[in-house]
Amino acid sequence: MNFNDTVAAVSTPRGKGGIAVIRISGDEAIRIADKVFVPKCGKTLSSLPSGKAIYGAISDIDDGIATVFRAPHSFTGEDTVEISCHGGVLVTSEVLSAFLSAGARAAEAGEFTRRAFLSGKLGLSEAEALGALLEADTHARLKLSHSGLSGKVSAAAKAQYDALCLIMSHLYAVIDYPDEDLGNLSKDELRSSLANCLSSLRSLASSYKNGKAILEGVATVLCGKPNVGKSSLYNRIVGRDAAIVTSVAGTTRDLLEETVPYGGVTLRICDTAGLHNSGDVVESIGIERAKKKMEEAELVLAVFDGSCALDSMDEELLETLAPLSAVKIALLNKSDKPMLADFSKLSLFDRIMTTSAETGEGLDDLAEAIDGYFLAGKLDPATDPIVATARQHAALSRACEYLENAISALDIDMEEDLISSDVEAAMSALSEVDGRQVSEDIVSGIFSHFCVGK
Ligand code: GDP
Repeated sequence: MNFNDTVAAVSTPRGKGGIAVIRISGDEAIRIADKVFVPKCGKTLSSLPSGKAIYGAISDIDDGIATVFRAPHSFTGEDTVEISCHGGVLVTSEVLSAFLSAGARAAEAGEFTRRAFLSGKLGLSEAEALGALLEADTHARLKLSHSGLSGKVSAAAKAQYDALCLIMSHLYAVIDYPDEDLGNLSKDELRSSLANCLSSLRSLASSYKNGKAILEGVATVLCGKPNVGKSSLYNRIVGRDAAIVTSVAGTTRDLLEETVPYGGVTLRICDTAGLHNSGDVVESIGIERAKKKMEEAELVLAVFDGSCALDSMDEELLETLAPLSAVKIALLNKSDKPMLADFSKLSLFDRIMTTSAETGEGLDDLAEAIDGYFLAGKLDPATDPIVATARQHAALSRACEYLENAISALDIDMEEDLISSDVEAAMSALSEVDGRQVSEDIVSGIFSHFCVGK
Protein backbone atom coordinates (compact mmCIF):
# COMPACT_ATOMS: atom_id res chain seq x y z
CA MET A 1 0.00 0.00 0.00
CA ASN A 2 1.21 3.50 -0.82
CA PHE A 3 1.18 5.81 2.17
CA ASN A 4 2.51 8.89 0.36
CA ASP A 5 -0.68 9.80 -1.47
CA THR A 6 -3.76 11.58 -0.15
CA VAL A 7 -6.71 9.51 1.02
CA ALA A 8 -10.33 10.23 1.90
CA ALA A 9 -13.12 8.30 3.63
CA VAL A 10 -16.36 8.83 5.50
CA SER A 11 -15.28 8.51 9.14
CA THR A 12 -18.75 8.24 10.67
CA PRO A 13 -20.95 5.12 10.35
CA ARG A 14 -23.08 4.72 7.24
CA GLY A 15 -26.67 5.73 7.95
CA LYS A 16 -28.85 8.70 8.84
CA GLY A 17 -27.44 11.10 11.42
CA GLY A 18 -27.33 14.74 12.48
CA ILE A 19 -23.88 15.13 10.98
CA ALA A 20 -21.29 12.97 9.25
CA VAL A 21 -17.56 13.56 8.96
CA ILE A 22 -15.48 13.01 5.84
CA ARG A 23 -11.75 12.99 6.43
CA ILE A 24 -8.99 13.71 3.90
CA SER A 25 -5.36 13.17 4.84
CA GLY A 26 -2.03 13.49 3.01
CA ASP A 27 0.25 16.08 1.42
CA GLU A 28 -2.44 17.20 -1.01
CA ALA A 29 -5.35 17.17 1.47
CA ILE A 30 -5.80 20.94 1.76
CA ARG A 31 -5.31 21.59 -1.98
CA ILE A 32 -7.83 18.86 -2.88
CA ALA A 33 -10.32 20.10 -0.27
CA ASP A 34 -10.01 23.62 -1.73
CA LYS A 35 -11.34 22.28 -5.03
CA VAL A 36 -14.51 20.99 -3.36
CA PHE A 37 -15.13 23.22 -0.33
CA VAL A 38 -15.78 26.94 -0.77
CA PRO A 39 -15.86 28.97 2.49
CA LYS A 40 -18.74 31.48 2.58
CA CYS A 41 -16.39 34.24 3.75
CA GLY A 42 -14.41 34.12 0.50
CA LYS A 43 -11.21 32.70 2.03
CA THR A 44 -9.59 29.43 0.92
CA LEU A 45 -8.76 26.48 3.17
CA SER A 46 -5.09 26.86 2.15
CA SER A 47 -5.06 30.27 3.83
CA LEU A 48 -6.30 28.92 7.18
CA PRO A 49 -4.09 28.14 10.18
CA SER A 50 -4.11 24.70 11.80
CA GLY A 51 -7.12 23.90 13.97
CA LYS A 52 -9.37 26.48 12.30
CA ALA A 53 -12.94 25.54 11.37
CA ILE A 54 -14.88 27.41 8.69
CA TYR A 55 -18.41 27.28 7.26
CA GLY A 56 -18.88 26.84 3.52
CA ALA A 57 -20.42 25.08 0.53
CA ILE A 58 -19.39 21.55 -0.36
CA SER A 59 -19.58 21.71 -4.18
CA ASP A 60 -23.27 21.96 -4.96
CA ILE A 61 -24.00 18.98 -2.70
CA ASP A 62 -24.35 20.38 0.83
CA ASP A 63 -23.23 23.06 3.29
CA GLY A 64 -20.93 22.21 6.15
CA ILE A 65 -17.90 22.97 8.29
CA ALA A 66 -14.32 22.28 7.24
CA THR A 67 -11.59 22.00 9.87
CA VAL A 68 -7.98 22.22 8.74
CA PHE A 69 -5.21 20.42 10.63
CA ARG A 70 -1.67 21.02 9.43
CA ALA A 71 1.10 18.42 9.77
CA PRO A 72 2.24 17.34 12.28
CA HIS A 73 -0.68 18.64 14.39
CA SER A 74 -3.30 16.16 13.22
CA PHE A 75 -4.38 12.63 14.13
CA THR A 76 -2.44 11.15 11.21
CA GLY A 77 0.48 13.56 11.55
CA GLU A 78 -0.23 14.64 7.94
CA ASP A 79 -2.15 17.62 6.55
CA THR A 80 -5.79 16.74 7.18
CA VAL A 81 -9.15 18.30 6.45
CA GLU A 82 -12.31 17.12 8.18
CA ILE A 83 -15.59 18.07 6.58
CA SER A 84 -18.73 17.90 8.69
CA CYS A 85 -21.81 17.69 6.49
CA HIS A 86 -25.36 16.43 6.97
CA GLY A 87 -25.49 12.77 7.89
CA GLY A 88 -27.41 11.13 5.07
CA VAL A 89 -26.23 8.07 3.18
CA LEU A 90 -26.41 9.74 -0.24
CA VAL A 91 -25.06 13.13 0.91
CA THR A 92 -21.97 11.57 2.46
CA SER A 93 -21.24 9.31 -0.50
CA GLU A 94 -21.61 12.29 -2.89
CA VAL A 95 -19.25 14.41 -0.78
CA LEU A 96 -16.74 11.56 -0.69
CA SER A 97 -17.04 11.10 -4.47
CA ALA A 98 -16.34 14.82 -4.94
CA PHE A 99 -13.06 14.45 -2.99
CA LEU A 100 -12.13 11.32 -4.94
CA SER A 101 -12.80 13.12 -8.25
CA ALA A 102 -10.65 16.01 -7.03
CA GLY A 103 -7.65 13.68 -6.63
CA ALA A 104 -7.91 11.75 -3.35
CA ARG A 105 -7.78 7.95 -3.15
CA ALA A 106 -10.38 6.00 -1.15
CA ALA A 107 -8.77 5.08 2.20
CA GLU A 108 -8.43 1.43 3.13
CA ALA A 109 -9.78 0.08 6.45
CA GLY A 110 -7.74 1.53 9.33
CA GLU A 111 -5.56 3.58 6.98
CA PHE A 112 -5.79 6.85 8.93
CA THR A 113 -4.66 5.10 12.12
CA ARG A 114 -1.94 3.27 10.22
CA ARG A 115 -0.66 6.60 8.90
CA ALA A 116 -0.70 7.94 12.48
CA PHE A 117 1.42 4.92 13.50
CA LEU A 118 3.82 5.39 10.56
CA SER A 119 4.30 9.07 11.36
CA GLY A 120 5.04 8.21 15.01
CA LYS A 121 1.86 9.81 16.38
CA LEU A 122 0.94 6.61 18.22
CA GLY A 123 2.61 3.30 19.02
CA LEU A 124 1.28 -0.08 18.01
CA SER A 125 -0.09 -0.88 21.46
CA GLU A 126 -1.95 2.46 21.47
CA ALA A 127 -3.33 1.64 18.01
CA GLU A 128 -4.53 -1.70 19.38
CA ALA A 129 -6.14 0.13 22.33
CA LEU A 130 -7.88 2.47 19.90
CA GLY A 131 -9.31 -0.56 18.05
CA ALA A 132 -10.54 -1.93 21.40
CA LEU A 133 -12.06 1.46 22.28
CA LEU A 134 -14.16 1.42 19.11
CA GLU A 135 -15.34 -2.11 19.94
CA ALA A 136 -15.89 -1.46 23.69
CA ASP A 137 -19.35 -2.53 24.84
CA THR A 138 -18.79 -2.60 28.60
CA HIS A 139 -17.42 0.04 30.97
CA ALA A 140 -14.53 -2.23 31.96
CA ARG A 141 -13.52 -2.62 28.32
CA LEU A 142 -13.78 1.13 27.78
CA LYS A 143 -11.62 1.84 30.85
CA LEU A 144 -9.04 -0.67 29.70
CA SER A 145 -8.91 0.86 26.20
CA HIS A 146 -8.43 4.35 27.68
CA SER A 147 -5.62 2.99 29.80
CA GLY A 148 -3.97 1.44 26.71
CA LEU A 149 -4.42 4.67 24.74
CA SER A 150 -2.66 6.64 27.44
CA GLY A 151 0.43 4.58 26.65
CA LYS A 152 0.99 3.05 30.12
CA VAL A 153 2.04 -0.35 28.75
CA SER A 154 4.40 1.19 26.18
CA ALA A 155 5.88 3.47 28.85
CA ALA A 156 6.40 0.56 31.27
CA ALA A 157 8.08 -1.53 28.54
CA LYS A 158 10.17 1.47 27.45
CA ALA A 159 11.37 2.07 31.04
CA GLN A 160 12.77 -1.49 31.15
CA TYR A 161 14.20 -1.08 27.63
CA ASP A 162 16.08 2.01 28.83
CA ALA A 163 17.32 0.16 31.91
CA LEU A 164 18.61 -2.64 29.64
CA CYS A 165 20.27 -0.03 27.42
CA LEU A 166 22.31 1.11 30.42
CA ILE A 167 23.27 -2.49 31.22
CA MET A 168 24.30 -3.00 27.58
CA SER A 169 26.53 0.07 27.63
CA HIS A 170 28.32 -1.43 30.63
CA LEU A 171 28.63 -4.85 28.96
CA TYR A 172 30.00 -3.30 25.75
CA ALA A 173 32.55 -1.35 27.78
CA VAL A 174 33.72 -4.58 29.45
CA ILE A 175 33.83 -6.39 26.07
CA ASP A 176 35.70 -3.55 24.32
CA TYR A 177 38.17 -2.77 27.12
CA PRO A 178 38.59 -6.04 29.01
CA ASP A 179 41.82 -4.97 30.70
CA GLU A 180 40.58 -1.72 32.13
CA ASP A 181 38.97 -1.58 35.51
CA LEU A 182 35.72 0.07 34.58
CA GLY A 183 34.51 -0.41 38.08
CA ASN A 184 31.06 1.06 37.52
CA LEU A 185 29.05 -2.17 37.80
CA SER A 186 30.07 -5.25 39.78
CA LYS A 187 28.82 -8.72 38.85
CA ASP A 188 26.36 -8.57 41.77
CA GLU A 189 25.10 -5.18 40.68
CA LEU A 190 24.73 -6.40 37.10
CA ARG A 191 22.80 -9.42 38.32
CA SER A 192 20.53 -7.36 40.50
CA SER A 193 19.86 -4.85 37.66
CA LEU A 194 18.92 -7.73 35.34
CA ALA A 195 16.79 -9.35 38.05
CA ASN A 196 14.96 -6.04 38.69
CA CYS A 197 14.16 -5.70 34.99
CA LEU A 198 13.01 -9.31 34.86
CA SER A 199 10.74 -8.88 37.87
CA SER A 200 9.17 -5.68 36.46
CA LEU A 201 8.61 -7.34 33.08
CA ARG A 202 7.14 -10.47 34.66
CA SER A 203 4.65 -8.40 36.62
CA LEU A 204 3.79 -6.39 33.47
CA ALA A 205 3.31 -9.63 31.50
CA SER A 206 1.13 -11.10 34.26
CA SER A 207 -1.28 -8.15 33.94
CA TYR A 208 -2.36 -9.79 30.67
CA LYS A 209 -4.46 -12.16 32.75
CA ASN A 210 -6.64 -9.16 33.65
CA GLY A 211 -6.50 -7.66 30.15
CA LYS A 212 -7.59 -10.95 28.61
CA ALA A 213 -10.38 -11.54 31.15
CA ILE A 214 -11.78 -8.07 30.45
CA LEU A 215 -11.23 -7.70 26.71
CA GLU A 216 -11.59 -11.23 25.40
CA GLY A 217 -13.85 -12.36 28.24
CA VAL A 218 -14.05 -15.70 30.01
CA ALA A 219 -15.88 -18.41 28.03
CA THR A 220 -18.41 -19.54 30.63
CA VAL A 221 -21.07 -22.26 30.60
CA LEU A 222 -23.97 -22.76 33.00
CA CYS A 223 -24.87 -26.43 32.95
CA GLY A 224 -26.85 -28.93 34.97
CA LYS A 225 -29.91 -31.12 34.79
CA PRO A 226 -33.33 -29.51 34.08
CA ASN A 227 -35.05 -27.31 36.69
CA VAL A 228 -32.06 -26.65 38.95
CA GLY A 229 -32.18 -22.90 38.22
CA LYS A 230 -29.66 -22.42 35.37
CA SER A 231 -31.82 -19.94 33.48
CA SER A 232 -32.73 -18.10 36.67
CA LEU A 233 -29.02 -17.73 37.51
CA TYR A 234 -28.27 -16.72 33.91
CA ASN A 235 -30.85 -13.93 34.19
CA ARG A 236 -29.34 -12.80 37.51
CA ILE A 237 -25.85 -12.69 36.00
CA VAL A 238 -26.82 -10.91 32.76
CA GLY A 239 -29.03 -8.56 34.76
CA ARG A 240 -32.27 -9.01 32.82
CA ASP A 241 -34.90 -11.62 31.94
CA ALA A 242 -33.02 -12.95 28.92
CA ALA A 243 -33.87 -16.64 29.44
CA ILE A 244 -37.37 -18.02 29.91
CA VAL A 245 -37.83 -19.46 33.41
CA THR A 246 -40.58 -21.99 34.10
CA SER A 247 -40.96 -25.06 36.27
CA VAL A 248 -41.37 -27.09 33.06
CA ALA A 249 -38.28 -29.25 32.41
CA GLY A 250 -36.78 -28.70 28.95
CA THR A 251 -37.70 -25.00 28.64
CA THR A 252 -34.19 -24.04 27.44
CA ARG A 253 -33.60 -26.12 24.31
CA ASP A 254 -30.81 -24.21 22.58
CA LEU A 255 -27.80 -22.18 23.69
CA LEU A 256 -28.35 -18.61 24.89
CA GLU A 257 -25.22 -16.48 24.91
CA GLU A 258 -24.36 -12.98 26.15
CA THR A 259 -21.28 -10.96 26.96
CA VAL A 260 -21.61 -9.24 30.33
CA PRO A 261 -19.35 -7.55 32.86
CA TYR A 262 -19.34 -9.57 36.09
CA GLY A 263 -17.23 -8.64 39.09
CA GLY A 264 -13.94 -7.49 37.57
CA VAL A 265 -14.11 -9.63 34.41
CA THR A 266 -16.21 -10.04 31.30
CA LEU A 267 -18.15 -13.28 31.01
CA ARG A 268 -19.06 -14.70 27.64
CA ILE A 269 -21.78 -16.69 29.35
CA CYS A 270 -23.92 -19.39 27.87
CA ASP A 271 -27.12 -20.90 29.30
CA THR A 272 -27.59 -24.45 28.09
CA ALA A 273 -30.32 -27.05 27.75
CA GLY A 274 -30.74 -29.19 30.87
CA LEU A 275 -28.66 -32.37 30.63
CA HIS A 276 -30.80 -35.52 30.72
CA ASN A 277 -31.89 -38.34 28.42
CA SER A 278 -34.42 -36.54 26.29
CA GLY A 279 -36.67 -38.20 23.71
CA ASP A 280 -37.27 -34.82 22.10
CA VAL A 281 -35.19 -34.42 18.90
CA VAL A 282 -34.77 -30.65 19.21
CA GLU A 283 -33.87 -30.84 22.91
CA SER A 284 -31.35 -33.63 22.21
CA ILE A 285 -29.56 -31.42 19.69
CA GLY A 286 -29.53 -28.66 22.34
CA ILE A 287 -28.00 -31.11 24.85
CA GLU A 288 -25.24 -32.09 22.37
CA ARG A 289 -24.49 -28.39 21.80
CA ALA A 290 -24.36 -27.86 25.55
CA LYS A 291 -21.77 -30.65 25.92
CA LYS A 292 -19.64 -29.15 23.13
CA LYS A 293 -19.77 -25.74 24.83
CA MET A 294 -18.67 -27.31 28.11
CA GLU A 295 -15.62 -28.80 26.39
CA GLU A 296 -14.63 -25.36 25.02
CA ALA A 297 -15.33 -23.41 28.22
CA GLU A 298 -12.72 -21.78 30.47
CA LEU A 299 -15.23 -21.63 33.34
CA VAL A 300 -17.96 -24.17 34.02
CA LEU A 301 -20.68 -23.22 36.48
CA ALA A 302 -22.36 -26.54 37.25
CA VAL A 303 -25.74 -25.96 38.84
CA PHE A 304 -27.37 -28.39 41.28
CA ASP A 305 -30.63 -28.11 43.17
CA GLY A 306 -29.16 -27.87 46.66
CA SER A 307 -32.57 -28.43 48.25
CA CYS A 308 -32.65 -32.07 46.99
CA ALA A 309 -30.24 -34.98 47.25
CA LEU A 310 -28.07 -35.41 44.15
CA ASP A 311 -29.52 -38.01 41.75
CA SER A 312 -28.28 -40.11 38.83
CA MET A 313 -28.62 -37.19 36.39
CA ASP A 314 -26.36 -35.07 38.62
CA GLU A 315 -23.91 -37.97 38.81
CA GLU A 316 -23.84 -38.23 35.01
CA LEU A 317 -22.98 -34.54 34.90
CA LEU A 318 -20.08 -35.16 37.29
CA GLU A 319 -18.73 -37.80 34.90
CA THR A 320 -19.01 -35.42 31.94
CA LEU A 321 -17.22 -32.67 33.87
CA ALA A 322 -14.39 -34.75 35.34
CA PRO A 323 -12.06 -34.67 32.30
CA LEU A 324 -12.61 -30.97 31.47
CA SER A 325 -9.72 -28.59 32.04
CA ALA A 326 -11.90 -25.54 32.76
CA VAL A 327 -12.18 -23.92 36.19
CA LYS A 328 -15.17 -25.76 37.67
CA ILE A 329 -17.45 -24.20 40.25
CA ALA A 330 -20.39 -26.14 41.72
CA LEU A 331 -23.37 -23.95 42.49
CA LEU A 332 -25.78 -25.51 44.98
CA ASN A 333 -28.75 -23.39 44.05
CA LYS A 334 -32.05 -22.73 45.86
CA SER A 335 -30.24 -21.91 49.12
CA ASP A 336 -33.39 -20.08 50.19
CA LYS A 337 -34.77 -23.57 50.94
CA PRO A 338 -33.33 -26.09 53.41
CA MET A 339 -30.17 -27.56 51.84
CA LEU A 340 -30.05 -31.35 51.48
CA ALA A 341 -27.44 -31.98 48.75
CA ASP A 342 -24.42 -34.08 49.71
CA PHE A 343 -21.26 -31.94 49.27
CA SER A 344 -18.92 -34.95 49.57
CA LYS A 345 -19.72 -36.06 46.03
CA LEU A 346 -18.48 -32.76 44.60
CA SER A 347 -14.76 -33.19 45.17
CA LEU A 348 -13.90 -32.67 41.48
CA PHE A 349 -14.83 -29.00 41.73
CA ASP A 350 -12.35 -26.19 42.29
CA ARG A 351 -14.96 -24.52 44.47
CA ILE A 352 -18.39 -25.35 45.89
CA MET A 353 -20.71 -22.44 46.54
CA THR A 354 -24.34 -21.97 47.52
CA THR A 355 -26.57 -19.56 45.61
CA SER A 356 -30.18 -18.56 45.40
CA ALA A 357 -31.30 -17.25 42.04
CA GLU A 358 -34.52 -16.39 43.85
CA THR A 359 -32.98 -14.01 46.42
CA GLY A 360 -29.60 -13.26 44.80
CA GLU A 361 -27.75 -14.74 47.79
CA GLY A 362 -24.25 -15.98 46.98
CA LEU A 363 -23.92 -14.13 43.68
CA ASP A 364 -21.51 -11.47 44.98
CA ASP A 365 -19.35 -14.27 46.43
CA LEU A 366 -19.48 -15.99 43.03
CA ALA A 367 -18.24 -12.82 41.30
CA GLU A 368 -15.41 -12.55 43.82
CA ALA A 369 -14.47 -16.21 43.33
CA ILE A 370 -14.39 -15.79 39.54
CA ASP A 371 -12.16 -12.71 39.90
CA GLY A 372 -9.82 -14.84 42.01
CA TYR A 373 -9.41 -17.38 39.21
CA PHE A 374 -9.22 -15.04 36.23
CA LEU A 375 -7.50 -11.88 37.50
CA ALA A 376 -3.91 -11.47 38.64
CA GLY A 377 -4.88 -9.24 41.55
CA LYS A 378 -6.95 -6.08 41.53
CA LEU A 379 -5.30 -3.85 38.95
CA ASP A 380 -6.78 -0.44 38.26
CA PRO A 381 -6.71 0.56 34.56
CA ALA A 382 -6.61 4.20 35.67
CA THR A 383 -3.22 3.78 37.33
CA ASP A 384 -1.75 0.37 36.43
CA PRO A 385 -0.42 -0.66 33.01
CA ILE A 386 -2.51 -3.62 31.84
CA VAL A 387 -1.39 -5.65 28.85
CA ALA A 388 -4.45 -6.21 26.69
CA THR A 389 -3.33 -8.18 23.64
CA ALA A 390 -1.76 -11.59 23.08
CA ARG A 391 0.81 -9.92 20.82
CA GLN A 392 2.10 -7.61 23.55
CA HIS A 393 2.05 -10.49 26.03
CA ALA A 394 4.06 -12.75 23.70
CA ALA A 395 6.68 -10.02 23.19
CA LEU A 396 6.99 -9.46 26.97
CA SER A 397 7.20 -13.19 27.67
CA ARG A 398 10.01 -13.54 25.13
CA ALA A 399 11.86 -10.61 26.72
CA CYS A 400 11.52 -12.40 30.11
CA GLU A 401 12.92 -15.64 28.68
CA TYR A 402 15.97 -13.87 27.25
CA LEU A 403 16.61 -12.12 30.56
CA GLU A 404 16.34 -15.45 32.43
CA ASN A 405 18.97 -16.81 30.00
CA ALA A 406 21.18 -13.77 30.57
CA ILE A 407 20.98 -14.20 34.35
CA SER A 408 21.74 -17.94 34.10
CA ALA A 409 24.72 -17.15 31.83
CA LEU A 410 25.98 -14.59 34.35
CA ASP A 411 25.58 -17.07 37.22
CA ILE A 412 27.87 -19.59 35.53
CA ASP A 413 30.41 -16.90 34.59
CA MET A 414 29.86 -17.06 30.85
CA GLU A 415 31.59 -14.50 28.60
CA GLU A 416 30.09 -10.98 28.58
CA ASP A 417 29.37 -11.17 24.85
CA LEU A 418 27.08 -14.19 25.40
CA ILE A 419 25.24 -12.36 28.17
CA SER A 420 24.96 -9.26 26.01
CA SER A 421 23.44 -11.19 23.11
CA ASP A 422 20.61 -12.35 25.42
CA VAL A 423 20.11 -8.81 26.73
CA GLU A 424 20.02 -7.49 23.15
CA ALA A 425 17.43 -10.13 22.23
CA ALA A 426 15.34 -9.08 25.25
CA MET A 427 15.54 -5.44 24.12
CA SER A 428 14.50 -6.40 20.63
CA ALA A 429 11.46 -8.32 21.98
CA LEU A 430 10.59 -5.29 24.14
CA SER A 431 10.69 -2.93 21.18
CA GLU A 432 7.95 -5.03 19.59
CA VAL A 433 5.51 -3.96 22.31
CA ASP A 434 5.02 -0.46 20.89
CA GLY A 435 5.82 -1.58 17.34
CA ARG A 436 9.26 -0.02 16.93
CA GLN A 437 10.45 -3.38 15.64
CA VAL A 438 7.67 -5.46 14.23
CA SER A 439 6.99 -7.24 10.95
CA GLU A 440 4.86 -5.76 8.18
CA ASP A 441 2.45 -8.72 8.42
CA ILE A 442 1.73 -8.05 12.09
CA VAL A 443 1.15 -4.34 11.44
CA SER A 444 -1.18 -5.13 8.51
CA GLY A 445 -3.04 -7.70 10.64
CA ILE A 446 -3.70 -5.15 13.38
CA PHE A 447 -4.96 -2.40 11.08
CA SER A 448 -7.10 -4.74 9.01
CA HIS A 449 -9.44 -5.00 12.03
CA PHE A 450 -10.26 -1.29 11.88
CA CYS A 451 -13.18 0.07 9.90
CA VAL A 452 -12.82 2.31 6.84
CA GLY A 453 -12.53 5.92 7.96
CA LYS A 454 -10.60 5.18 11.17
P1 GDP B 1 -33.34 -24.53 34.61
O1 GDP B 1 -34.24 -25.50 33.95
O2 GDP B 1 -32.21 -25.22 35.29
O3 GDP B 1 -32.89 -23.44 33.68
O4 GDP B 1 -34.17 -23.87 35.81
P2 GDP B 1 -35.05 -22.54 35.83
O5 GDP B 1 -34.18 -21.36 36.00
O6 GDP B 1 -35.96 -22.54 34.64
O7 GDP B 1 -35.83 -22.74 37.18
C1 GDP B 1 -36.64 -23.88 37.39
C2 GDP B 1 -37.60 -23.57 38.54
O8 GDP B 1 -36.85 -23.40 39.74
C3 GDP B 1 -38.41 -22.30 38.34
O9 GDP B 1 -39.70 -22.49 38.86
C4 GDP B 1 -37.65 -21.28 39.18
O10 GDP B 1 -38.47 -20.23 39.65
C5 GDP B 1 -37.15 -22.12 40.32
N1 GDP B 1 -35.90 -21.61 40.89
C6 GDP B 1 -34.76 -21.28 40.23
N2 GDP B 1 -33.84 -20.86 41.09
C7 GDP B 1 -34.39 -20.90 42.34
C8 GDP B 1 -33.90 -20.59 43.64
O11 GDP B 1 -32.78 -20.17 43.86
N3 GDP B 1 -34.77 -20.80 44.68
C9 GDP B 1 -36.03 -21.28 44.49
N4 GDP B 1 -36.78 -21.46 45.57
N5 GDP B 1 -36.49 -21.57 43.28
C10 GDP B 1 -35.70 -21.40 42.19
